[in-house]
Amino acid sequence: LAAGEYGPEQPGRVVAHFGRTLNVAPDGGGEIVRCHLRANLDGLVTGDRVIWRAARDADDRVIDGVVVARGERESVLERPDARGQLKPVAANIDQILIVFAVEPAPHANLIDRYLVAAEATGIAPVLVLNKIDLLPVGGGELRDLLGRYEGLGYAVVNSTTAREDGLTALRRRLGGRTSVFVGQSGVGKSSLIDRLLPDEELRIGALSKDSRKGTHTTTTARLYRLPGTDANNPATGDHGGEDLATGPADSGELIDSPGIREFGLVHLDEQQVAEGFIEFHEWLGRCHFRDCRHRQEPGCALLGAVERGKIHPERFASYRRIVDSLNDPATSTPR
Ligand code: GDP
Ligand code: ZN
Repeated sequence: LAAGEYGPEQPGRVVAHFGRTLNVAPDGGGEIVRCHLRANLDGLVTGDRVIWRAARDADDRVIDGVVVARGERESVLERPDARGQLKPVAANIDQILIVFAVEPAPHANLIDRYLVAAEATGIAPVLVLNKIDLLPVGGGELRDLLGRYEGLGYAVVNSTTAREDGLTALRRRLGGRTSVFVGQSGVGKSSLIDRLLPDEELRIGALSKDSRKGTHTTTTARLYRLPGTDANNPATGDHGGEDLATGPADSGELIDSPGIREFGLVHLDEQQVAEGFIEFHEWLGRCHFRDCRHRQEPGCALLGAVERGKIHPERFASYRRIVDSLNDPATSTPR
């Protein structure tokens, strides 16, 4: 292979992008490589799996690369652009970590808004209760509230940045998966990420050597590989070692950007909101009227379920509030 020619095709993952330039992490490790996009490719985002080819210099060092194909997406997160059009911002995310805090305490309706938005993406939501160091003994109402969500089947993880072992459960949850953190400002997202990625080198790990110089400061999403902890650490010890089915144990990956953190309800219709309440599923489609809006129609299966105590009245009230706010863009994004 002559210097400057492109080598064989290999798999990788987009860890950052700047227009038509992508930073790609080779599968199996190694330095991040700056890649161009082949002309017929477009719209790649952070988290995309790609096939790429490396160009090497006379000393066999990788100079750059070209991305020649995009892998299928298991999931995609979209955000509206400046003109209100939905655009993918990140791909292949396994879970959306919705961060709340003991202070300021969340309202049930806010939790529901995030859950509905997450359910619409098809990506599994996880509720993270941060600042548990501020939780009063016994936990009070907040524990009851979150217990309700656990009862619905949602995972709830407690965390605190105020104690050395405060992130143990969270780290366990992040292992082997690609995650994003979302949530209102002030709940502790930056603090959590600072603790998970304490090393400045890791922070810029998503950047290739060239783009570290600061000319490419970008607000697009970056993918970070979380640092491994040693086998004695309870955070990762439960899945240490190689697992043939899932590959080597890893500490997980984080995709982050200011835009992703502000994730909220966008462009959903009434049907999608109803589907975002997972306990409604078994009643949807069983109403007397096909186009039932679950307000006061006779034979409404949802209203019947609320009456018989099968659906929590507060969840149903929350559903109605979200539907009523759909036409009011000012209230459709959690803030
Ligand atoms: P973000 O807006 O979600 O990124 O929140 P920040 O990370 O900026 O945190 C907001 C405030 O909460 C800061 O003053 C943090 O020091 C504080 N904070 C973050 N995590 C914790 C925690 O676990 N316990 C307590 N008591 N405070 C925290
Ligand atoms: Zn109905």
